[in-house]
Amino acid sequence: MKRFALAIAFTLACGGAEAADPFAQTRLEWNRPQKPFHVIGNIYYVGAAGVSAFLITTPQGHIVTDGALPESAAMIEANIKALGFKLSDVKILLNSHAHFDHSGSLARLKKDTGAKLHASAADTPILESGHITFGPAANADSVPVKVDHVVAHGGTVSLGGVTLTAHVTSGHTPGCTTWTMNLRDGNAARKVMFFCSISVAGNPLVGNKQFPGIVQAYRASFARLKTMQADIFLAPHGAQFGMAEKLAKMKPGAPNPFIDPGELPRFVATAEKDFDAELARQKAGAPPKI
Ligand SMILES: [Zn+2]
Repeated sequence: MKRFALAIAFTLACGGAEAADPFAQTRLEWNRPQKPFHVIGNIYYVGAAGVSAFLITTPQGHIVTDGALPESAAMIEANIKALGFKLSDVKILLNSHAHFDHSGSLARLKKDTGAKLHASAADTPILESGHITFGPAANADSVPVKVDHVVAHGGTVSLGGVTLTAHVTSGHTPGCTTWTMNLRDGNAARKVMFFCSISVAGNPLVGNKQFPGIVQAYRASFARLKTMQADIFLAPHGAQFGMAEKLAKMKPGAPNPFIDPGELPRFVATAEKDFDAELARQKAGAPPKI
């Protein structure tokens, strides 16, 4: 009873139950159900409304990229099955970056499918511990997951005629990884990008002892992304690639709204401007803006 009273006092002192998880409300919004859908070619969306997971199918098994939130696992699995695919045919798991909202379901997906996880060297310790040491996500651990294969920048992962290439676009996390693949869409050859993220999102840019080279990492990633092309730009949050708006425009016979070669350069230009503004704020002594 005394312990119970103490717990109540602690909860009140800390500002209520929400204080336990600073993302509690956001997680509910991100994890709203999303009907799975065909994006283009052999790519399907199987994530929640606000956090992405993509299924890439091949005749020799499938690839899932990103694990959304820990609480998204059942939805991702149900979405894969609803499209008519078997969980046991998922052979490879990939990750954009080791934040709880994109790696959360990987451990469960790995267990339920038997797939192998491929990830970058710099994000591997974060995936395996479930904990990142800086930024707002330091207060929201993920579910630890064992990485089976470490992929270097420029490294590839292949299955059933599909090859994904890893491009380390460090900054948002140390090993943030943008994956690309080529796609045949009718007679057209298309470049697909599963973008990592390049937002500051509350990361300390000044005096970050856990990631001292963070500013140079962001700069190098902006430079790298400016050399890249994507006909289809897909990202870890639907809001980053206009998912809902594009989905509403999907009509039989109409051009696929997910094809937009101008989207990547527009996105990167805006993100770099935001980065410069946030760096200037933090250099002037302001705390990181979430
Ligand atoms: Zn993130």
